[in-house]
Amino acid sequence: MADPADAGEWRDYLSTLAPELEFRQWPDIGNPAEVRYILAWEPLANLAEQFRNLRVLYAAGAGVDQFELTQLPDQVSLVRLVDSSMADIMAEYVLYGVLALHRDILTYQEDQRGGRWQPRPIVHASQRRVGVMGVGNLGRAALDRLQPLGFQLSGWNRSLKNVPGGCCYVGLEQLEDFLGQCDILVNMLPLTVETDGILNAARLSCLPRGAGLINVGRGAHVVEQDLLDALDAGQVGGAVLDVLLQEPPSRQSPFWKHPRVLLTPHIASDVQVEGGVAVIAENLRREEEGRPLLNLVDRSKGY
Ligand code: NDP
Repeated sequence: MADPADAGEWRDYLSTLAPELEFRQWPDIGNPAEVRYILAWEPLANLAEQFRNLRVLYAAGAGVDQFELTQLPDQVSLVRLVDSSMADIMAEYVLYGVLALHRDILTYQEDQRGGRWQPRPIVHASQRRVGVMGVGNLGRAALDRLQPLGFQLSGWNRSLKNVPGGCCYVGLEQLEDFLGQCDILVNMLPLTVETDGILNAARLSCLPRGAGLINVGRGAHVVEQDLLDALDAGQVGGAVLDVLLQEPPSRQSPFWKHPRVLLTPHIASDVQVEGGVAVIAENLRREEEGRPLLNLVDRSKGY
């Protein structure tokens, strides 16, 4: 289920990497009972009734918060199409955001618009503490890219993970301590019941004054009015936002013109067709051999 141009690209790669699959493009799918695998960006109505023999729903992205997990029949597996090239692209964006905040580029942009030529003190990367929330597939790739630049790194995660050159804070009980030592905070969590609204006024107030925020998770992770208040009060010094609660935001949204916000239209990363098809092809082999599927979503956790 995709627009025709995208669907053509998936068809081409699938015919090379998984030629045994017959490809049908929505809405010309023939008899729905013959459909074993669906690739979709968005949830489908009456999935269980329409596709009685569905085995795997492939979510064409890294996040699955758009799907209602409780509505999926037990026999249907939900799989995310993340791959290493998607993680590389995300890491590139995080690197860009961290460097922009680290080198105070938002201030220099304001100076440029105001006709001011005003050098400010430089902070060495070794004195800058960068923390990543969600040390998963994408978070780990971003940390690996940041490490050679010499930042002080840390992570916050549900379970203990290895953070290159730094430490991992675990669970809600260590969240405030983690935030308290983030000069630049990068949110890379999945959106779940537990992480919805996680960055609210109380949490933002735990950050060192003037800290930077990068949000590449989901807009709903951040309580937007709380962030705007924190930006206006100087508690948060600048924000690089790739995701918002409403995308695109309304014309009146303060995020469009806020001088301390760098806004991008949800482009930090995207599913890579070749890598996504490689996951599908590998999962066909695994299914045949009765081995666990790659990138399977754990429905009890919601990601
Ligand atoms: P993963 O599932 O690989 O990683 C998620 C990490 O978050 C895991 O390490 C997990 O911990 C941790 N986590 C989940 N819930 C909690 C919690 N309640 N408390 C603490 N840690 C938690 O996901 P990805 O790295 O592949 O993707 C992360 C998110 O990035 C996606 O869900 C999506 O929303 C977003 N994304 C955004 C894009 C963009 O363009 N802006 C593009 C692609 C993805 P544990 O290891 O213990 O399970």
